[in-house]
Amino acid sequence: MPSTILINPSNEAVLREIEHVTSDGVDDAVARAVVAQREWAALAPAERAAGLRRFATVVDRAIDELSWLEVRNSGHPIAQARWEAAHVRDVLNYYAAAPERMIGKQIPVAGGLDVTFLEPLGVVGVIVPWNFPMTIAAWGFAPALAAGNAVLLKPAEWTPLTAIRLGELARECGLPEGLFQVLPGRGSVIGERFVTHEDVRKVVFTGSTEVGKRVMAGCADQVKAVTLELGGKSANVVFADSDLEKAAATAPYAVFENAGQDCCARSRILVERSVYDRFLELLEPAVKGVRVGLPGDEATEMGPLVAKAHYDKVASYVTDESRVAFRGTVPDGPGYWFPPTVLLPASRTDRTVTDEIFGPVVTVLPFDDEADAIALANASIYGLSGSIWTRDVGRAIRVARGIDSGNLSVNSHSSVRYSTPFGGFKQSGLGRELGPDAATAFTETKNVFISTD
Ligand code: NAP
Repeated sequence: MPSTILINPSNEAVLREIEHVTSDGVDDAVARAVVAQREWAALAPAERAAGLRRFATVVDRAIDELSWLEVRNSGHPIAQARWEAAHVRDVLNYYAAAPERMIGKQIPVAGGLDVTFLEPLGVVGVIVPWNFPMTIAAWGFAPALAAGNAVLLKPAEWTPLTAIRLGELARECGLPEGLFQVLPGRGSVIGERFVTHEDVRKVVFTGSTEVGKRVMAGCADQVKAVTLELGGKSANVVFADSDLEKAAATAPYAVFENAGQDCCARSRILVERSVYDRFLELLEPAVKGVRVGLPGDEATEMGPLVAKAHYDKVASYVTDESRVAFRGTVPDGPGYWFPPTVLLPASRTDRTVTDEIFGPVVTVLPFDDEADAIALANASIYGLSGSIWTRDVGRAIRVARGIDSGNLSVNSHSSVRYSTPFGGFKQSGLGRELGPDAATAFTETKNVFISTD
C-alpha cells in the first residue's frame, strides 16, 4: 500500500505515515456515497439543515485540536490556524441555511403551471491544495452537502490531517455513513479517478492552473461539471494620492501571510512613479517588522514553507543576479524557512513578475498613470485578486472596473468572506465559490410543466 510520511515543516520532525487510498478504494467510496446521497436528498430540508448545524457545532468544539494539527502539518501560525478552523465552522453554519432556501421559480406559461426545481447533482469530488487545507475543503463540501449531494474530499498529499479529522467529526455528529468521505493519497490516482468515474457528477478543483486544465479536459469527456480555483499573481496598486503610510504598512501582510502560499497574494506591488522611492522607504521597516517565527508562538505572523520541494522552487526565483531591495529574517535551525524578500525586477516581463512564485517574494514596479496601472495589473494570465490604494473615489471605481480580476479591495487587502462570491478571471479559474449562490452551483435546474387542461 503506498503511503506518505508527513514532515513538520517548522522542524523537519517526522509526524506520521498516511496510507493512500487506491483507485479501487475510490470506487468503493463512490458506491457508498451514491447510496448515502439518495438518503440525504430524501430528508426534509430542515433535517439536512440541522445536520449541517450539528457538524458546525462539533467543528467549533474541535477548533483547538484542528488548529494544532494545521500548525504541525502545514506550519501555519497558531493564530492563523485558529481563524481557519473557526472559518470552517462559519462556512458550515452559513450553508446550513441553504437547504431550506433552495428555491426554484414559477414561470408564467400558457396552458398550465411551469416550475423549476434545483436538483442535487449526486456525488461531488472535491480536490484541494496544501496551502489552506481545511478552509478550501469547506468551501466545497459545505455548499455541496447543503444542496443535497454526497462529497468525496481528496486533501493534498502533504497536508491531509485536518481533512481526515473533519471526516471523523462528520460521522461523530451523526451525518449518514458514506455522505462525506475523506480519501487521502495522490492526485494522480484519486483526483484522476474523480474525473473518470461516471458516478462523480462534479469535480471542484483548487490548485495549480496546469493541473486544473487537465482536470477540465478530463471532465469534458463525460460533460462533467467543474469548478476551478487556480493560480494568481495579483497586483497591489498604490497611487500617489493614497494614504502611503497605511499602504506600505499593510502591503507585507497582503503577500507574506501564510508565507506567500496564498492564491490571493498581492505579489506584484505597482507604485505610481512620483512616490515610488518614498514607498520603498516606508516598505522596508514594514517588511523587516513581519514576525517570522515558530508556528506555535502566539505572536508569530509568518511560518515556514510547507515542504522542502516547495522551498527549492521558491528559492530558484532569488538568485545571485536578483536585484534584492531588502529582506526580513528567519529563525535558525531546521525547517523550510524563507525570509520575506522584496525584489526590484529589471523588467516588466521578468519571470519574478509573471510567474506565481507562491512564496514570500514580492516584486515592486513603478507605473506612470492610471491607464498604465490598469494595463500593468492586467499584464498577467491570472486574474484572481488585487488591491487599489487611492483617496479618489472615482479613480477607485474606474480602476476596480478596469482590472480583470474576480476579487478586488480598495484601501484594504480583504479577499475572502464566506458570504461573498470568490473566484478568478482568465486562467485563475472558472465558476465561483462562497457567497449566497454557492449551493446552487451544486444543482441542476429541472423544469416541469403541468398541464391544467
Ligand atoms: P496542485 O499541484 O495543482 O495540486 C492541487 C490538488 O490537486 C492536490 O490535492 C493534488 O494532489 C491534486 N492533483 C495533482 N494531480 C492531479 C491530477 N492529475 N488530477 C486530479 N488532481 C490532481 O496545486 P498545489 O501545489 O497543491 O497548490 C498550489 C496551487 O493552488 C497554486 O497555484 C495556488 O494559486 C492554487 N490555489 C488556488 C486557490 C484559489 O482559490 N484560486 C486557492 C488556493 C490555492 P497531490 O497533493 O497528491 O499532488
